[in-house]
Amino acid sequence: MSTNAMITDEDKILRKKMQDFVSWVPKQLLLDMDEDKVIYPKEFLREAGKRKLLGLRFSPKWGGAGLPWTSELIALEEVGVLGTSLGCIYSLVSIVGEAISVFGTEEQKERFLKPMIKGEIGVAEGLTEPRGGSDFFAGTTKARREGDVFYITGQKRFVVGAEGADLILIYGKVEGIDDPKKAMTAFLVERGPGVKVEHLYGLMGTRGGGTGRLVFRDAVVPLKNVLGGEAGIGNGTNVFNQMMIPERMTSAGAAIGMGRAAIEIAARYADKRKAFGQKIRRFEAVSFKVADSVTLLDAARALNFSAGASVDANESPDKIRRLVSESKKFSTEAAWTVVNHAMQILGGIGYTNIFPVERILRDVRLITIWTGSNEIMNLVIQHEFYKEFLSEPPESRNIEDDAIGASLPDEKIYNE
Ligand SMILES: Cc1cc2nc3c(=O)[nH]c(=O)nc-3n(C[C@H](O)[C@H](O)[C@H](O)COP(=O)(O)OP(=O)(O)OC[C@H]3O[C@@H](n4cnc5c(N)ncnc54)[C@H](O)[C@@H]3O)c2cc1C
Repeated sequence: MSTNAMITDEDKILRKKMQDFVSWVPKQLLLDMDEDKVIYPKEFLREAGKRKLLGLRFSPKWGGAGLPWTSELIALEEVGVLGTSLGCIYSLVSIVGEAISVFGTEEQKERFLKPMIKGEIGVAEGLTEPRGGSDFFAGTTKARREGDVFYITGQKRFVVGAEGADLILIYGKVEGIDDPKKAMTAFLVERGPGVKVEHLYGLMGTRGGGTGRLVFRDAVVPLKNVLGGEAGIGNGTNVFNQMMIPERMTSAGAAIGMGRAAIEIAARYADKRKAFGQKIRRFEAVSFKVADSVTLLDAARALNFSAGASVDANESPDKIRRLVSESKKFSTEAAWTVVNHAMQILGGIGYTNIFPVERILRDVRLITIWTGSNEIMNLVIQHEFYKEFLSEPPESRNIEDDAIGASLPDEKIYNE
């Protein structure tokens, strides 16, 4: 399952490197993470960094490969087969790295972006608060400034890497600025007094990433750790909007890998398992699930590719927001459907830990919820669609007039 015709020879080499890396990942690490015996898989990051597979889009000056989104998506699909936890830890370099790469000072890029890309430090992002994740701007984390020091007070919930990451990008509102959008500021928080993990969550899947609730009590953050320095104060809204591109594209890209992993297991099983004297893939009820699944994954991959190309081409922020949200929504829902099909094809054995499909199913359930729930994706999609649609006169044929009664004014009633 691939779209080789759409990718370059360099992308094929990248895909092979990612496949080699993914094959390197010890099975025991996956099993231990799923049993929460691991809190944060540092060796995974170190190995990815050593192989120069992290932060692919960032400038070679900071250790990146300067690749476009269309290439990073290929890498994300491959890492996705490992599940949500490792996929997330891999993606966080892309997400937090985007914020530092676009808005950080040179010193911040040297101090944080470089070691992140080398896999020497682990990063996390704290956006969600106990009182709500979707309503991001209603967050209540505060930053009080005294000279060149900020004291942060608040909480962030569901942070992957809460327990193990070295650097956490969080958002807080600077006191004294009334407009919440103008007060919102991104901080690069290093662990120290005032930063505490108060709860590690028991999760349905996505385990082994140290997902927890972080509490900040007058946590000290120097001005040099405000993302962008002095100029970054009050710039959090722009940082947030920029970060939402990798936040959602990484979910979309890795989703394809999860769906692919599950349906390949199921398709192989259906080709071997017999019932009523024949291979079960001879039953339409089974083979059509395979057909639906590969179609969904191919469609999702193509949509992701076009969203990635839109970002690479620097199209308008509205267009990018719509396409990225469509990708996140469609790919994650496709993956959920595909993994369910895979489990159904496997029958009872699919529900056991003889096959990893049950773990993938537990993992994949999350992805329609996180990085902006799919309900929020729908809000964005319709908003950006209407904005563009209503502001531009139709360029093509006016199809509405192609009806016998099209010009009967008394019949087209809009209740105005
Ligand atoms: C395992 C895990 C890992 C996570 N990792 C991170 C992380 O590393 N960093 C981080 O910051 N966050 C992380 N999250 C948080 C995740 O992104 C949020 O859970 C998600 O954005 C939803 O926010 P919420 O849980 O507060 O739900 P709420 O915002 O309370 O939403 C509840 C429900 O209401 C719906 N809803 C809310 N508003 C609207 C609306 N306007 N229209 C329609 N429907 C609406 C939502 O779609 C959802 O179905 C993680 C979550 C989990 C479970």
